[in-house]
Amino acid sequence: MISLTDVSKSYPGGVTALASVSLEIRRGELVAIVGPSGSGKSTMLNTIGTLDRPSGGTVRIDGYDVSKLSDNQLSALRGTRIGFVFQHFHLAAKVSALDNVADGLLYSGLPLSERRRRARAALDRVGLGHRIDHEPHELSGGERQRVAIARAVAGDPPLVLADEPTGALDSVSGAGVMELLHDLHGSGTTIVIITHDREIAGSLPRQVRMRDGRIVADSAALTGVA
Ligand code: ADP
Repeated sequence: MISLTDVSKSYPGGVTALASVSLEIRRGELVAIVGPSGSGKSTMLNTIGTLDRPSGGTVRIDGYDVSKLSDNQLSALRGTRIGFVFQHFHLAAKVSALDNVADGLLYSGLPLSERRRRARAALDRVGLGHRIDHEPHELSGGERQRVAIARAVAGDPPLVLADEPTGALDSVSGAGVMELLHDLHGSGTTIVIITHDREIAGSLPRQVRMRDGRIVADSAALTGVA
């Protein structure tokens, strides 16, 4: 599903965010990315999500060599195959939960009525079928993250990338969000999660540890999964 080969990313001023990172993640895996702040976790996730282009190396997502795709093709890849979940939800203010999720399907080209139908189904799936008319400010943090997850999965992408999805939540809401991500994994979705929470990282089948822009440990290397 994900293949990084010698991927590097530098920023002007000599910052090396990724230094020759190679990583294989197979279809259906659930992987935690851990490491200190500034170690390159978000840069790696954004590179996998094709939001950032690498300075060097090869990124393959679902079989596509990302460097060979135009900006339009990259948008299509993101719009149809990758769902994103962020620490601070990134929901549109003053827009109902239903339309926040339906707007995530804009790329599909489906008419609004069909997008809303799918959005309703996704909100049901995350246990928020009774909150579809609520705007983000009328929802708790945990509920907002559930809306964000519904938005990420409404189009049934094979890959979901989550950057600290529980980082802004209390432990009970965070556990609910993790349960949803585990359910998604159970239904076959490949999921990559950045987390600072040791307990969460330890509960996932595979942990990849980063430091100074490099992968310094990968539990799959111990178990021979990769
Ligand atoms: P993490 O997610 O592990 O905290 P990041 O991937 O955000 O790490 O950052 C890795 C390094 O790249 C850090 O030194 C950070 O300051 C730098 N960096 C990230 N984004 C940018 C940017 N847009 N411009 C310059 N430096 C950046």
